[in-house]
This record gives sequence, structure tokens and C-alpha cells, in this order.
Amino acid sequence: MNLPHPPNLPLCDLHIHLGASVAPHVMWSIAHAQGFKLPVKDYWEFKRMITVDPNSCRGLDDYLKILHEWTERIQSSPAAVERSVYEIIGKEYRGSRVEQIELRFNPMKRNQRGRRDLDHIIHAALRGMDRACLEYGVKAGLILCLAREFDAETNAKIVRKAIQYRSRGIVGIDLAGTESNTIELGESVGQYAAMFAMAREAGLGTTIHTGETQATNGEGVIAVVERIKPDRIGHGVRAAYNERAMEMLAESNTTLEICPTSNLHTRAVASIDEFKVILGTFVDRGVPITINTDGTYLCDTNLEREFALIRDSGALSSDQLERARQRAFEVSFLD
Ligand SMILES: [Zn+2]
Repeated sequence: MNLPHPPNLPLCDLHIHLGASVAPHVMWSIAHAQGFKLPVKDYWEFKRMITVDPNSCRGLDDYLKILHEWTERIQSSPAAVERSVYEIIGKEYRGSRVEQIELRFNPMKRNQRGRRDLDHIIHAALRGMDRACLEYGVKAGLILCLAREFDAETNAKIVRKAIQYRSRGIVGIDLAGTESNTIELGESVGQYAAMFAMAREAGLGTTIHTGETQATNGEGVIAVVERIKPDRIGHGVRAAYNERAMEMLAESNTTLEICPTSNLHTRAVASIDEFKVILGTFVDRGVPITINTDGTYLCDTNLEREFALIRDSGALSSDQLERARQRAFEVSFLD
């Protein structure tokens, strides 16, 4: 019999995207409330459109395509953002006992290219978060994502907004998007150093998506740790194959936000057996890890199921898994 892990213990999700975690029926309702013209004949077709079929998913770009084409568009209004944030926090608490959550999103991808006011979008997200926290007694914070495909000025604007709203519940910044080829990594990462330093100076937590595609094999992790020194790294799984990256992660005590199902779907990790090798390497080398969802509905999972997947496959022992659970609370940007 499979017991849920950890039994009756509260969980903390540090890596979960607004655009990947709203239930399809809620997205459907939001789309209709805004009078969206949808290219589907019924709800079921809509559900298929905004979730990933693991059998046909070819990689990270397939994931991002769904986000850009539909979920971000449907969520691009203050009312839609408020409801999305509110629904996610409540659902993760009810479904997985997630008592602490850091929800991330890119506000510039929710304002219809400047047609909606950015402050309205951020206030709406904070309102949704406040309502959910009050109702469920959970702790939550928002992380604002920068995008690799944005120009420097646009990303700097997001950082300034994160700093402006720090006292209201924005707890950190992130950088998301597909990493370009290995040679460019060092160069492209450098441009974010000043922005991340500014955020850190202002008391915000810092995390960066890197090492989540087979193409980079740890090079991105090295560039990021060397030049940006974030508190945490989103994914970073490919670093397990790079000796130098492993040394740097352990030395700098940078925590990895591991998202198992997401990495299996995007083929960053080929199988659960490979995950076993990767997580085993991190533990052996003293690289701190946490378990997260990335996107509950896009990946068809929840945090309890992610823990169960790792436990049942034997990728981590019960003690190691418990350590990862506690670690998430310790390295949270909240408080
Ligand atoms: Zn992510």
C-alpha cells in the first residue's frame, strides 16, 4: 500500500508557475467571463489544448508554447490574475497540504503588451494571494519572473516593480525561458548580474531557471553561479553531469528547485531511473535539493504526488526526502 509522503506533514512549494497551475475548468470559466473566442468545440478539447500530453511532448519549447499561446492570454487581466492566484493557493493547500507557497509569474506577460497597467496586474495578484491566505491560513509570496526573450529595459522594469512591492508580498525575482546555445550562455547571463544584484540589495530572494534542457549540460548552471550567485536555481538537473558545476553548487550552497514530472515531460531527464542517478549525485556531493511541481495542471501532478514519485521509485530514501521537504521551508524567501 502506498502511504502519502510525508504523512500529514505540511509541504512547501518553491517553484510553481501561475501560467501552469490553474485548473482547466477555472481557466475555462475565466475565458468565458472575458468573452474569449476559443478555437475549440467544447470543454474537453480546451482541456487538451492547455495541458501537456507526455507522449507527444517533445521538449521545453512545447511546454512554453502552450503557456504563451493560451494560458498567458486568458490570464491577461486584473480579474483573471486575481482569480488565478486565489484558486492555485487554495487548491494546493486542499490537495497537497501545501502550507507555504511561492507562486511565480511574469507580470509583463499578463498586461497585453502594455495595454493593461502593470500596477493593476500586480495589485490583483496580491489581492488574490491575500484572500487565499486569509481563508486557508497558509503563507504565500509572489516571485516576479524576468524573461530571457525580453530586452534589458523590460526586464529592469520588472525588477523595479518587484522592489517597489517587496513590502506587499513580492518575495523574489526569477529568470525564465529557454537557454540559448552553450557558447552564448556566459555572455547572455552576464547582462542580468546588475539586475539581480539590485534585487538582492533590496532584500529580495533570487532564483534562476537553468540546466533544464539536455543541450546545456551544466554550462548554464556554471555561468549563473559564477556571475549572478542566486540563492536558488530552478531545475539545474543537468549539472549532475558536470564536475565543475557540482563543485560550485556545493561550495556556494545553492539550493536546487527540482521538479520531477516536469523534467520527465520535457525530456530534460529521460526516465525515473535517470532521476535516481541525478538525485543520488546531488545528495552525495552535498548539493541541497527541494521537490516542487513547476506547474500542477500543465504537468498533471501535485506536490504530494511529486514526493510519492520520488519515494516510490527509490530515487531518494525516506530520510533524504524528509530533508528535502524541510529544506524548502528553510530556503523559502518568505520571512
Ligand atoms: Zn519553472
